[in-house]
This record gives sequence, structure tokens and C-alpha cells, in this order.
Amino acid sequence: MKNDFKVTNSIPLRCRTWRQEALLRLLENVLAVGNEPDMMAYATLGRATRDYSSHVAIVHALQTMTEDYTLIIQSGKPVGLLKTHAQAPLVIMANCNMVGHWAKSEVFYQLERKGLICWGGLSAGAWQYIGSQAVIQSTYEIFSRIAERYYNNTLKGHFILTAGLGAMGSAQALAAWMVGAVILVVEIDPERIQKCLAKGYLQQQVTSLEEALIRIKTAIAQREALSLGLLGNAAVIFPEILARGFIPHIVTDQTPAHDLLYGYIPADYDLARVHELRQANPKELMLAGLASIKRQMEAMLGFHKAGSVVFDHGNLIRTQAYSAGVADAFDIPVFTEAFLRPLFCRAIGPFRWIALSNDPDDIHRIDEYMVQRFADNHIVTNWIGLAQQYVPFEGLPARIAWLGHGERTELALAVNQMVADGRLKAPVAFTRDHLDAGAMAHPYLMTENLRDGSDVIADWPLINAMLNCASGADLVAIHSSGGGDSGYMTSAGVTIIADGTPAAAQRLQLSLTNDTSLSIIRYADAGYPEAIEEAIYKGVGYIALS
Ligand code: NAD
Repeated sequence: MKNDFKVTNSIPLRCRTWRQEALLRLLENVLAVGNEPDMMAYATLGRATRDYSSHVAIVHALQTMTEDYTLIIQSGKPVGLLKTHAQAPLVIMANCNMVGHWAKSEVFYQLERKGLICWGGLSAGAWQYIGSQAVIQSTYEIFSRIAERYYNNTLKGHFILTAGLGAMGSAQALAAWMVGAVILVVEIDPERIQKCLAKGYLQQQVTSLEEALIRIKTAIAQREALSLGLLGNAAVIFPEILARGFIPHIVTDQTPAHDLLYGYIPADYDLARVHELRQANPKELMLAGLASIKRQMEAMLGFHKAGSVVFDHGNLIRTQAYSAGVADAFDIPVFTEAFLRPLFCRAIGPFRWIALSNDPDDIHRIDEYMVQRFADNHIVTNWIGLAQQYVPFEGLPARIAWLGHGERTELALAVNQMVADGRLKAPVAFTRDHLDAGAMAHPYLMTENLRDGSDVIADWPLINAMLNCASGADLVAIHSSGGGDSGYMTSAGVTIIADGTPAAAQRLQLSLTNDTSLSIIRYADAGYPEAIEEAIYKGVGYIALS
């Protein structure tokens, strides 16, 4: 089917239609934003494609394929270009899925060394990664929920201690500052601190713990927002702060604790030594990492007992600490269960859109629509205002908003019309985090302590991917985790392009509506009353057995 859309953007298309061009731009965007060596994007080992030759072959396929073909990607490598039809997905992919019994980090590393597999992280492998901006709102929402529940609705005059200023972790500094809190982020790599300062995510670096604590006390007393980065190891600094009896209001961590080999840096090891040991003595490195995580977690539990709100921020730190002998590591909750589940029950989650024109004005025009259309939705209007003011664009301009069932579809259809009318300069891609209600099974993150005990059942993300294929989404991906995270989760990702055509309107309508319907069904099936109510109220097609 011919795509009649007239491009108003000055950049000529390199592919046959905007659908393929859009996916190519998203792939390039992952690499541009990730900006890490060796085609890596984030979370230590997350990649967009398996290697450079895979990348070249994918680009060639996207540039030459017509809309009635589907490109098949297996763990970041293109393996086939098959005739389907113009309503089918253009790209389907399965990244890093190992058979249950073998889904272990040592097997992953062996397969990776043989060049047979790669880890896509959550969003990188599905070409949906948009940089640290992707998780600022979720971090902001977590802090806001904590403020509501524990601190009289404000984090002004409150202190957050955390670690890790990496691709995702750096969002903590900006989000905390946006809620008016004082935050100290411990980071072992000086380059990461500089990068964060340069991006405007972090306000200042302090050179010692003494200086940090003086600055923090003053900012708390003056109820002033402040973000500080301290060069150091979390396994050393957290216990030191506890030993001084200085108890933060909130404690968390976003070091890559999930990966003892390529991620977490043990105490008393410098970065050069760690690089050396990865090849020379991985066992020593991993044991040292576990011992350090134990120290860090014991301090986190000490803060917990002293009254801090402590939570696992999705990096498996509790799991590692437990295996290192910290029996009560799971006394602290994971952020999804503790703070976000009521939103997920109503399919409200991290939805996002990306301006393929590379023009921020397109995002600002959609912002204007959002603020008018969702004027009575406080989460949305508050966030759009804050994001416009404080969140810099990274790569292709993008916006995130936590929208629910019906809202996502409505927005996407309105944007598709704006593209058709020429009010936007080029098409817009719609996607969402894999960490979304019906799209992820991760018993230590997304699905921990579900009401019905179905935490480890990975049928839901698989159904999600099949449903999105059946609904004609442009790209559909099934991911499982790799590296130190191997075996812990399965998720599904989806991308649909609003290119202004009636065919796109149909794809957006079906995919986005069905995607969030399944989210509500997943939580209704697990017995959450708010999901059952939403299922009935919104008529999502839930079948409840009597
Ligand atoms: P990253 O690899 O980009 O950055 C990690 C940072 O931690 C690096 O800057 C590193 O120098 C620093 N670090 C390592 N060990 C340290 C130590 N002992 N003390 C102080 N600093 C240390 O990783 P990322 O993308 O920022 O992700 C961080 C973690 O968050 C990962 O485990 C990832 O899987 C997890 N994650 C969670 C979510 C979520 O669900 N909210 C989303 C994405 C990533």
C-alpha cells in the first residue's frame, strides 16, 4: 500500500515510506542518545543491535523494504525479511530470551562471547530508548507518592540519599530537585558526574562527605532544593553516613547492582583494576561486588530501621544482598509495588512520543493539546509544565506522560490528525516503557507480591506482544533480561508511527486500545478491585469467570 503522506520536513526520506524511516530514525536515536562505546546504550550491557554488521544490515533492510514485508530480528541481529502484508508489523524481534532452566548470567556471557545473543535492556534493543529523560517522570512520581504518604505532601526540607549517576540513575538527581528535595548521589566514576553536570541533571559536585553533610543540613533548614554528586563508593559512603547517625528521609540506589561483572564496582577497587579483573579474575571481582553490596544493603536496612523510607529502585540490589547472606534484604519494598501499582491497575503508565522531525516545536504543539485536553488531569498538566521547564531534550525531541486506557489512543489519534493537517512537521512515534502494566513479568520488580501470587508467570508479556502484532503495531518486541539480570524478567515493547494516514489511525486505535485493555485485564485477573472496576467501567472486554 502506498503511503501518500507529504513530508514537510526538509530532511529527505531514506526509506520507501515514513513507517520504515521512522524506525530507522528511532534506531539511530538510541545510538546517538546512548553514546556509549561498542554500540552499547545503557544499564551496563543494553544494546540496540548485536554488533556493527547487524546494524548495517538492519539499516539496509529498512531502507529497501516495502510496507508489505516484515523484518525479523533475533537478539539484535536481522535474520530474515519475509513477505507479510501492509497491515502487519514492519519489524518483529525477540531479544535475549533463553529457555527457563538455562536463563542464567553465566550462560548469557558464554553465548554473548560466541556472538549468539545480546541484551537489549528494556528499551534499547527495541529502538525505543530516549535517554535519561525516559525515567525522570517515573522517579518524580515515586518521590511525589512518598511525599503524599509519609511527608505531609512535600519533600521540601527532606533529604534523599542514593547512588549511581548512570543513564537511568542520573534521572534521580533531576527528579528530586524538581520535587524540591535535597539529594546526595554517590557515584564512583568522575566522568559520569561531569556528564550529569553538563546535562544539567545535577547541580553541583562536592569533594568530601563532610562538605556534603554541611551543605545538606543547610539546605534542609532553608527548605531549599539541592542536588549534589559525591565521588565515592556507595558501599563505603552509605555506612559512613549511617555511622554518623545522619538519617535521610528517603534512601534508594541505582548502581547496576544487577551485574557483578560489568556493572557494580566493589568498595576499595579502582576503575582500572575492575576493568583488568573482568578478564583476569572475574570470580574475585564478583565476590568482591557481592561483599560490597552486602555492606551497602546493611546500611540501607539500618536507615530503614531508623525510620527512612527505603526502596529498591529496580536494580536487583535486594536479590544480590540476599544471596550474599543479608536475610532481611526483602524487608525493603520495590518501588513498583510500594508506590505505583494503583496506577498500573488502571493501566496508567509511562507512555511516550517522539518527534521524528527532530524539531522541538512539534513536541511543544502536542504539549499545547495535552494541557487543554487533559486540563482536569493533575498528573499530566503538572508534569508537562515541569518537563517544559526543566527536562532537556536528548536526541530526537520526546515527551513522556503517564496516561491510561483511552487517553493514549485519544492523544495518538489527535496527533495523527495533526500530522495529516500539516500542523506538525513530520510523523510522530508512539511507544511506552516495557515496564508497563500488562507488558512485564519480573517477580522482583514489576510483579512482586501480586495478590494472586502470579508473580513469575510470563504469559502476560507474551500475550501482549502477540496482541500488538494482531493489532498491526509497527514494531513489536519480546525481551528477556541478560547479563547479571538473566532469568529475572520477560517484557514486551511496542511502537506505532502516526504518519497522518488513515491506516496509521487504525493501527494506533487498535494497538494502543488493546495494549492498555490487556493491562487492566492483567490486574483484574490478579484480583485488584480497582482494575476490576476499571475493566467494567471502560468495557475493555475482560472475561471474568463466575
Ligand atoms: P549505568 O550502568 O548507566 O550506570 C550505573 C552507574 O553506577 C555508573 O555511573 C557507575 O559508575 C555507578 N556505580 C557502579 N558501582 C557503584 C558503586 N559501588 N558506588 C557508586 N556508584 C557506582 O546503569 P543505569 O542505566 O543507570 O541503570 C542502573 C540500574 O537501574 C541498573 O541495575 C538497571 O537495570 C536499573 N534500572 C532500573 C529501572 C527501573 O525499573 N526504574 C530502569 C532502568 C534501569
